[in-house]
Amino acid sequence: MASVVDHLDENESMVTPRDVKYAVLHLQAAVEVLLKARLMAEHWSLVFSDPHKATRKALDEATLSSVSTEQAVIRLRNIADVPIAEKEGRALKNLTEDRNKLQHFGLTAPAPVIEARAGEVLDFLIRFVDEELMPRLSHEERDETEEALGQLRGGLASINTFVRERTNRIRGEVTREGSENRTIRCPECEQMALVLGDTADPHGETVWATCRFCANRWNPDELLECFPADGQDEPSELNTCSQCREWLLGWGVQVLSDPEADVAFCFFCITAFPSVVPCDRCARPVDAAGPGPQLCGVCWEEGVVESRYGREDPTDYGCEAE
Ligand SMILES: [Zn+2]
Ligand SMILES: [Zn+2]
Ligand SMILES: [Zn+2]
Repeated sequence: MASVVDHLDENESMVTPRDVKYAVLHLQAAVEVLLKARLMAEHWSLVFSDPHKATRKALDEATLSSVSTEQAVIRLRNIADVPIAEKEGRALKNLTEDRNKLQHFGLTAPAPVIEARAGEVLDFLIRFVDEELMPRLSHEERDETEEALGQLRGGLASINTFVRERTNRIRGEVTREGSENRTIRCPECEQMALVLGDTADPHGETVWATCRFCANRWNPDELLECFPADGQDEPSELNTCSQCREWLLGWGVQVLSDPEADVAFCFFCITAFPSVVPCDRCARPVDAAGPGPQLCGVCWEEGVVESRYGREDPTDYGCEAE
């Protein structure tokens, strides 16, 4: 963990791609060792990928096939009752993926993104060591660890400061341009930095959406995949935009102009529709300006027809029978 901080601390020196690479490798190694240490404290068989096949001999000779990070997180939560938040679990998973990609293809995500993710994992690990491992150490070990953690916290603070400075700078730029209502949270790096509707890159190609933090580019179809209607894999009527009629209305999008709300957003019109909600009965988009249960035109009419034949009571859906 100390090596990770050394590599990523921009106060010390500029962070190079090589620094990022070693930071990821060492951080992943730290995650594996520390999570296993806590599992060992619970029971040694839990560090085996299959605890049913655990033998003392394989453990002593270090010939075991050991638990993956993902499995370790599950066991820590379920068996050792260690609190690991959803967001922390995701950061650990992203780190494992970064490490695997790095080994096969070199650096695939831009350095700032990996730095931000590494910051999250470090943050988690420092707390994990403090709360889960420290109480199980001897007096001497505890003193030593206490001191190391102090230094790590300092390093982490400056890594996080750089990430925060970067996001603040982007936010300032976007606000100056007046683009807050077309800037959304990026599905890749989770920063409020994906600006939609920017045109033309230096090569003269039309660029539809670029994240100013992670530099990922997106077209409308790719974005829709990241913000599907509930339970749908493919674009469908549930993605119909009332303005342009394209199937490009994403659900649960966070927009910089109102970052706390999850709204419907058309990736074709580049417009947020904060009052649009899924129809109570069929989940097609419907404008919920009025009070009460929300029904789309189709469901409302069906409700009326059915009520004439006595099949269903339309007041179930908030409609008055004629
Ligand atoms: Zn991004
Ligand atoms: Zn539209
Ligand atoms: Zn409906």
